[in-house]
Amino acid sequence: MEQNKIAINHLETGNQSKQHIELAIKALEKQIPKDVVRERAAIKTCPVCDSVVNKNYCQNCGQKLNY
Ligand SMILES: [Zn+2]
Repeated sequence: MEQNKIAINHLETGNQSKQHIELAIKALEKQIPKDVVRERAAIKTCPVCDSVVNKNYCQNCGQKLNY
């Protein structure tokens, strides 16, 4: 039983590491500014998540923007 628990812990750690790497890559990609989507003069939206943005970064997903 104890060995099974250890094996499961190793599996979960492996998955978490992969997720952490993917999150880290996504976080790095968000450091590259992207142009905001200009639907109307007063409303600009995030190109990543379509949230309305009014700053040089997306408050929803953290994407940096060329606002
Ligand atoms: Zn966003």
